[in-house]
Amino acid sequence: MLKVFNTLTGRKDPYEPLAPGQVRMYVCGVTVYDYSHLGHARSALVFDVIRRYLEYRSFDVTFVKNFTDVDDKIINRANQLGIPWQEVTTKYIDAYYHDMERLGVRTATVEPKATEHMEEIIRLIRTLLEKGVAYRVNGDVYFEVQKYPAYGRLSKRKLDELQAGARVEVDERKRNPVDFALWKSSKPGEPAWPSPWGPGRPGWHIECSAMSMKHLGETFDIHGGGQDLIFPHHENEIAQSCSATDKEFARYWVHNGFVTVDQEKMSKSLGNFFTVKEIFEKWGYREEVTAEAIRYFLLSTHYRSPLDFSDSSLSEAKRALDRFYSLFQRLEESSATRGLGDERLPSLLEQLGNEFRQAMDDDFNTPAAIAQFQHLRGEVNRLLEMELSRKAREKALEAFRALGQVLGLFQISWRDWEFKDLYPPVGWMNKGTQTVLPPQPKEWNPTQGVTTAGTPLPLIEEEREIQRKVDERKEARQRKDFRRADEIKKELRERYHVILEDRPDGTTRWKR
Ligand SMILES: [Zn+2]
Repeated sequence: MLKVFNTLTGRKDPYEPLAPGQVRMYVCGVTVYDYSHLGHARSALVFDVIRRYLEYRSFDVTFVKNFTDVDDKIINRANQLGIPWQEVTTKYIDAYYHDMERLGVRTATVEPKATEHMEEIIRLIRTLLEKGVAYRVNGDVYFEVQKYPAYGRLSKRKLDELQAGARVEVDERKRNPVDFALWKSSKPGEPAWPSPWGPGRPGWHIECSAMSMKHLGETFDIHGGGQDLIFPHHENEIAQSCSATDKEFARYWVHNGFVTVDQEKMSKSLGNFFTVKEIFEKWGYREEVTAEAIRYFLLSTHYRSPLDFSDSSLSEAKRALDRFYSLFQRLEESSATRGLGDERLPSLLEQLGNEFRQAMDDDFNTPAAIAQFQHLRGEVNRLLEMELSRKAREKALEAFRALGQVLGLFQISWRDWEFKDLYPPVGWMNKGTQTVLPPQPKEWNPTQGVTTAGTPLPLIEEEREIQRKVDERKEARQRKDFRRADEIKKELRERYHVILEDRPDGTTRWKR
């Protein structure tokens, strides 16, 4: 049975669609005023995989993901660059599509833009005014939060506490500091659409209510987005939608966690802000290889947990994939004809299918699903030692491909894979005000412990060695070889004075 963690109920709920066999799902997309960073990529990928898995489970999925293409940030950007705001949105919508295509994120069923839904937005605001839950102040329209008694049920906040907190920035025009704008009158030179309240533009929250209801109906199954959208964006969407229709809005609220960089929240001011474009450009591998490493890295952590990006994380993901593609190579290149290991294969493949579904049914647990692939990889490698017939080898390969497709992994030929380790310069992602590291030569030879330029870097190599041991221990644990796992743990403690901390999300941190 598929279970989905629902922010609204605060627990994993059994998934029951409104209409049998169908999923109607809305995800808040990007505000197009800049390039997408890793946080955007994570959200896009998480919902791409959720959609793929629901389709794999034979649901008929209607997936709507919007573009916010009118917003203060867009207007500011356009003013900064001295170009029309439409040029800003066109540029970054194109860039978004380019990034997503490279990452293998499929386009949604419908990708509506706010500017193309003014009629629906205005109609919805009019309904809210007629119902007496919104009010006009000059050319602006506000939603009156107090008129929606259930306000705060998604973010578990209490209205009186919010009011106390909002006092700092009292806007005289609002009846209550927590009220939010549905329609904003425009200043000269700003984008404006005609409305019964004068020329202006919609507030951010109302556009998602209008677009989701237009494309999915007044009540639909899943509403998703990043955790940072829970409050106020999604709370406000619920308040205005439910007030307008007197029906439930979305039934399951799904939110993905943040991406941090070296344990700090990714932000422009810290200079640790990574665009997808940049990673593709700087990392140096062929696009499909980089894309798969990014996907593997992003899916190795459960979608609700915070995810830390560091210099080494992509390389670790790449190395983990190397081990899969090496197996695929062995499977294709082996010339064995005797099928001494054949007999054991069908049950292994069946087990993979079952455990994969079990993992994904448990709130889309991608790290657990990946662990199943790792387990199968180990087993198939062992069977290859015993010899597998050609037919069996094809079957094994097909199993990786078919299930891997749900996660967007293992889809290219091993011939197109780049096995070499580029070892991007340490600190390649540092820029701006972060830790300043000396420039590193491009090639790093791990076996000799020196760079090709001849500079010894023992500390960095030691860290890599530790990380390799940590990975090895993780794999040992996954195949339930706890003796080996304990040996590694002991070795790390005695040799490197490293303490390991296993975290509930399945990852391990180490510190000295
Ligand atoms: Zn939204």
